[in-house]
Amino acid sequence: MVLAELGGSISRAIQQMSNATIIDEKALNDCLNEITRALLQSDVQFKLVRDMQTNIKKIVNLDDLAAGHNKRKIIQQKGKPSVVMFVGLQGSGKTTTCTKYAYYHQKKGWKPALVCADTFRAGAFDQLKQNATKAKIPFYGSYMESDPVKISVEGVERFKKENCDLIIVDTSGRHKQEVALFEEMRQVAEATKPDLVIFVMDSSIGQAAFDQAQAFKQSVAVGAVIVTKMDGHAKGGGALSAVAATKSPVIFIGTGEHMDEFEVFDVKPFVSRLLGMGDWSGFMDKIQEVVPMDQQPELLQKLSEGNFTLRIMYEQFQNLLKMGPIGQVFSMLPGFSSELMPKGREKESQAKIKRYMTMMDSMTNEELDSSNPKLMNESRIMRIARGSGRSVRDVMEMLEEYKRLAKIWSKMKGLKIPKKGEMSALSRNMNA
Ligand code: GDP
Repeated sequence: MVLAELGGSISRAIQQMSNATIIDEKALNDCLNEITRALLQSDVQFKLVRDMQTNIKKIVNLDDLAAGHNKRKIIQQKGKPSVVMFVGLQGSGKTTTCTKYAYYHQKKGWKPALVCADTFRAGAFDQLKQNATKAKIPFYGSYMESDPVKISVEGVERFKKENCDLIIVDTSGRHKQEVALFEEMRQVAEATKPDLVIFVMDSSIGQAAFDQAQAFKQSVAVGAVIVTKMDGHAKGGGALSAVAATKSPVIFIGTGEHMDEFEVFDVKPFVSRLLGMGDWSGFMDKIQEVVPMDQQPELLQKLSEGNFTLRIMYEQFQNLLKMGPIGQVFSMLPGFSSELMPKGREKESQAKIKRYMTMMDSMTNEELDSSNPKLMNESRIMRIARGSGRSVRDVMEMLEEYKRLAKIWSKMKGLKIPKKGEMSALSRNMNA
């Protein structure tokens, strides 16, 4: 089983579980059996797989899960007021996320409101007020009152009277002492009786995620996780630790500082990112947009044979340069995003690509169509440099880039090529 298929099987199993409304023993067993099958097919040692299964069953406490993972509890009915309390360390993006969450639901027809229960940090209320005003969401807070419990109760009461159906309470993320922070959170929760407590986590905290999430879970009944700053470099693997520590699902991710840079958590691109595979579903959609219709089957056929030649790279550069806004398209394509096209440096990257193409114009057909890396010997490299008026170093750099891309794209090898009209099915297969 090639890596892409293994990744696919595992994420399919996880997806099935995350689609289930209630995670019970059967859902867990089905998921584990599916993963076990995929691992054994990939020649993973039998003992290792068996131990993994036993360990997961030991860690997962189904009694706890029944309450925490019942999504019917999380998705409250519109019309009935729900109180949602946000917790997380200062700087995690909590206040920003509260507004994003409110804004997201407002667009879906809810009537949200924001309550600032962070009386510890000067400026917290101002920040919430500013965000809320921008999004036209009612807010409540005080510059004078220092008791967060009092403020949150007053805010919740007021918005219930005003028929708001989603009342969001933003709590403090810092205190003189950690103990005081958790005690305050506990008191606010006791007084406002939230229907859901959301733990907000910065995706870059990495290994520290488990302890941090667990500390919060021990004080309040965390029922969901939101991972912020997924637009940065972090892969977000810490989110898995937070899920394990809180036994709660990730429901949204933050992908930027703006109000609408907020997405419902989707396990497929997340797992792809963790496995370093790029966003394949976005990629397949883009291939249909970027590559002219008549070239699509041919390109996919070549890729499925594992032949990512220099000519394919050239053709993709050509296609991509025709498209705009270029950064957006590139960011979707595996391998083209971070290294070749760093954000904010699209112009330079575009120039670099044009330079690569000039050098490739000096290549022979044999060189362009070969997938044998040994073909590009010293004399060929020198000829290409002379022919294109570039240095040997430039040619070497272009070939390095080709090798890097070829390695990434080789994951497409063995892919089943769809018949006409089956493109979307392929896209599903790759991401399932
Ligand atoms: P709090 O202290 O937890 O309330 O955090 P804030 O909401 O004040 O956010 C801290 C910083 O992170 C601010 O500069 C936010 O603009 C930024 N931020 C929050 N969420 C995201 C995100 O998803 N992506 C990026 N790039 N920045 C974010």
